[in-house]
Amino acid sequence: MSDCLFCKIAEGQIPSNKVYEDEVCFAFHDIDPQAPTHFLVIPKAHIGSVAEVTEDNADVVAHIFAVISKVTKELGLDSYRVVSNIGEQAGQSVPHLHFHVLSGRDMTWPPG
Ligand code: 5GP
Ligand code: ZN
Repeated sequence: MSDCLFCKIAEGQIPSNKVYEDEVCFAFHDIDPQAPTHFLVIPKAHIGSVAEVTEDNADVVAHIFAVISKVTKELGLDSYRVVSNIGEQAGQSVPHLHFHVLSGRDMTWPPG
């Protein structure tokens, strides 16, 4: 999508602090970190949110979780949280599917 912030970040049109990249997904540090480690993993192809995941594109999500498992190990993270907000009430502010990976501090449950 030409007007999507995270599409532009994935394409390198807007700079970011890259954590990982392959042909399917892109990971980069959150600009407003909520934990000592806070990065986002996004598909390169535009998907609006989990609400737009179907049997036809779910392989992208499976790949992203394999990447999260691998990259967190490489970073030495043995405890972390993966979050995806869907819709305004849940706190989604960027309408391109993204998984927050947060680590490095105590976390509460349930989240606020
Ligand atoms: P959401 O609120 O949609 O769950 O998460 C969007 C996240 O994107 C927020 O944590 C926000 O800080 C981050 N974000 C928004 N704009 C940018 C940006 O231009 N660059 C980076 N690296 N992160 C951004
Ligand atoms: Zn997009």
